[in-house]
Parts: sequence; structure tokens; C-alpha cells
Amino acid sequence: MITQTVPCGDWQPAGADLITDLAELRRVLDLPDTSSPDALAAADGFAVRVPRSYVARMRKGDPDDPLLRQVLASAEEVDVVPGYSADPLEERDSTPVPGILHKYHGRVLLMVTGACAVHCRYCFRRHFPYAEHVPGGERLARALDWLAGRDDIQEVILSGGDPLSVSDRRLRQLLDALAGIPHVQRLRIHTRQPVVMPERVSDGLLAMLAGWPGGRVMVLHANHARELDDSVRKACQQLAQAGVTLLNQAVLLKGVNDGLEQQLALANTLFDAGVMPYYLHQLDRVQGAAHFQVSDEAARRLHGQLQARLPGYLVPRLVQELPGAASKTALV
Ligand SMILES: *Cc1c(COP(=O)(O)O)cnc(C)c1O
Ligand code: SF4
Repeated sequence: MITQTVPCGDWQPAGADLITDLAELRRVLDLPDTSSPDALAAADGFAVRVPRSYVARMRKGDPDDPLLRQVLASAEEVDVVPGYSADPLEERDSTPVPGILHKYHGRVLLMVTGACAVHCRYCFRRHFPYAEHVPGGERLARALDWLAGRDDIQEVILSGGDPLSVSDRRLRQLLDALAGIPHVQRLRIHTRQPVVMPERVSDGLLAMLAGWPGGRVMVLHANHARELDDSVRKACQQLAQAGVTLLNQAVLLKGVNDGLEQQLALANTLFDAGVMPYYLHQLDRVQGAAHFQVSDEAARRLHGQLQARLPGYLVPRLVQELPGAASKTALV
């Protein structure tokens, strides 16, 4: 049995309709309520959380649905597997001030919140001590001060949690503060919300992004072609119209997207939505996610097949994150 820290997700977007109960999730999908004690324990440690509009894209009655697999608490999560840790990236060593992760030249991650609209069971930050790092008030001021003194940083990446979990009002305050730091030229947002909850792409958000004075990039997180329905495509279109360059990072997940056809469909569907595949991440070895692991050998083989089948610009870079490296590390 492992001890898990829940990201401090007290936030819910206005009007967000989330399922947070394992039994309800199974009921809505016409699945028998057969959760084992271990699955219930997993859900106790890292709560089930999934927007209803995302659940609506799942196939009813299919316990192996690739969208469901990403969010359904399962008994395997409580297995203790050697080599899987609570802090696989040793991120605690890369925080010059709370709320800032600085590993790579010229760019930093700013942790905006620990909250997410969806809880992905494979999340490498599922044990991250957000309470110590989420900058509110005083802490945010310190993080911004640090940024203002570092003119070698050109790009700020809003991360979390999911940075779009905070209200438009808070986001605007943050963007205004960042826009006041002259060397911050590019804004990047790492978010899964336009995919799992496209209704989050509000007029207010679009106006805010359109008004950002420098470059703006959004890195979405979609793992399967079926996540990109009409509502997601429309949100992507609106973001592009607001001047946002759209990229996608996916995590390679056993039983979700480790097949060639699934990866081809994902790349083509992303392109049709105006999103370029960017990274395909080999899973970070976080406690509770070992059952999603694809071997390095199988990952390389799959990537080779993608290269043989797709135009080069649709092949995501297969990478892993190694503590201490100067960038993400290519696996090929
Ligand atoms: C992944 C990551 C980045 C972004 O890396 P890119 O290769 O530019 O996408 C920046 N900082 C940290 C700490 C990261 O983990
Ligand atoms: S949206 Fe991202 S940060 Fe949030 S649970 Fe999923 S993988 Fe983790």
C-alpha cells in the first residue's frame, strides 16, 4: 500500500460538471460496480475526477475504453513496484523559489495551481507536494521577483496542475504581471483542459491570449484521437484565431495509445484540428502507474513505424525526462 498525496484540488471551474465518484462513473458508463477494495483505496489516495463532457466521449459498457483507462482508478495502482518513486524527476532539486521549476536554459515552469479538471491515473505529479509550491499572494510575488531578476529567461511556461484551473480574473492578473517583465517574450501554457473540457476556452480567455504582447504557445495534452471531438476542434480553432500556436504532448500508455493505428490516428486527427504533434513522452516512473509502462524497446519500435508512415512534421519526438539533463532526452 502506498501513501499518496492528493494535489490540492479544491478548485472547480464555474459551471464545470465533474464526476468525482467511482461508482457514479461506472454507472454512467453502464459498467457493473465491481470496484475492488484496492481500486477504492487507489481512488482514496488520488481522487477520481473527470469532466462529464469527456466521459460522454467514452464508449458505454467497455471497461477497456482508452479514454476511461486514463481516469479510472484501478487495483494495480496500489502495487508497489521497484524503480517507481513519488518524485521520479527529482523536481524538488530544481526549484530556486517555491512555484518555479528551472531546469532548462531560457525557460522556466511556473506552477500556477495544483488543481486539474481531470485526474490522469498515470500523472507523474500525482505525489507532488503542491501545497508547498502553488504560488498565491506572497509566494507569487516572490516568484515574479525572481523572474524579474533573471534576464536570461525569455519564456515562461504556465504549468501545474492545470494552469487553466484558475479563474480568468486570476489568470489576467498573472499575465499582466508577466507582461511587465521585459525579458519575458514568450508565454507558453501547458494544459489539458481544452481537450478534456473545451468549454473552458471562454471568450475571456481568448481575449486575454489575443492581447498578450509577445509570442504565445499552448501545448495541449491529448493521448487518443477519440479525445478530439467537434467541441475540441472548435476550441482549437478559436485558440488559433487568437494567435496561439498549438502543439500536443502525449504520454505513451499501455492499453491506451501503444498501437501503431492509434498513434497514426492521433497524429492525423491533431493535424486536422490545427495542432502539431510535439512530444510523445515515455512514462515517468511514478508510483502507481507501472501498469501503463511500455518498454523502451517497444516505444522505439513504435516510433520507427511512425517515421515510416507519416510525414516528418507529424512525428512527435519520443522523449523521456532524465534528472539533471539539459533538455528532454530523445529515446531514439
Ligand atoms: C518539459 C519542461 C520544459 C519545456 O521543455 P521544452 O523542451 O522546451 O518543451 C521546461 N521546463 C521544465 C522544468 C520542463 O520539465
Ligand atoms: S492534467 Fe496533467 S497535471 Fe493534471 S492529472 Fe492529468 S497529467 Fe497530471
